[in-house]
Amino acid sequence: MAKITLPSRSRVAVHKFSSCDGCQLAFLNAGNDLLTLAERVQFVHFAEAGISAPIDTNVDIAFVEGSISTAEDETRIAVIRAHSRYLVAIGACATSGGVQALRNLGRGHDWLAEVYPNPDQIDSLDAACPVSDYVRVDLELWGCPVSERQLFAAIAALLGHVAPKEHNDALCMACKARGSVCVLVTRDEPCMGPLTRTGCGALCPDFGRACYGCFGPSRNANHLSWGARMREFGVTPESIVRRFHMINSGAQDCLDAGDTWRGFCHNPKIDGPSKS
Ligand code: SF4
Ligand code: SF4
Repeated sequence: MAKITLPSRSRVAVHKFSSCDGCQLAFLNAGNDLLTLAERVQFVHFAEAGISAPIDTNVDIAFVEGSISTAEDETRIAVIRAHSRYLVAIGACATSGGVQALRNLGRGHDWLAEVYPNPDQIDSLDAACPVSDYVRVDLELWGCPVSERQLFAAIAALLGHVAPKEHNDALCMACKARGSVCVLVTRDEPCMGPLTRTGCGALCPDFGRACYGCFGPSRNANHLSWGARMREFGVTPESIVRRFHMINSGAQDCLDAGDTWRGFCHNPKIDGPSKS
């Protein structure tokens, strides 16, 4: 990302698209820190906080939560992009399509008839997609939900005129730095930390449970080797597919890994590829 310059009291918007509002809550959960932040920036639009300027209000930073899932979403994100100096996609929904992108794995609009009595009344695009599929995105903060730490670090970087740090390393790096006991090595837990990007602070391993990949794929992850290790623990290929096709199924790495392991399902003679 190129070096940036913002005015002293920046105008910030937090927009909601197809989402559960959990990433907006990461802002609100900041409590007193949010009040301090409000002295440095002016929130001109923030749906969850009841602040609602028109979407064509010019802002310095627009945070966008949620996937693009309807025709109205598609129109609205274009207007927001045109009026935002920097656009930051926050959370799994905005960066990969999120849980709702699971419908992309189905049979087009056929799934509507299986869920709704009057599917013709549902306004939805063929697929739930990340924001970057529709407009230019300056920064992506992954996670479900995104962490308060990530949000404030991004704002501090933007206000401090430096390029925000990207978190592409595997979670194991943060986990080891915290000194947490590895649940994969010591308890044969199917921890996705070796495949998942940092940003959460290694929350799950810190509490003695396996990471389930909510922060999305890390750089240079070896999905085949990880899956082969899981097979040694007795995890079925079907279960491996479900782990990839879960929160971030719309991310290409997760989609490809899940599709690869789907090829090993329902065939008891095939254990999957050997570790490499
Ligand atoms: S990324 Fe997760 S927490 Fe954030 S809006 Fe989507 S479903 Fe909710
Ligand atoms: S517990 Fe998970 S994230 Fe932590 S080092 Fe082990 S595999 Fe990596």
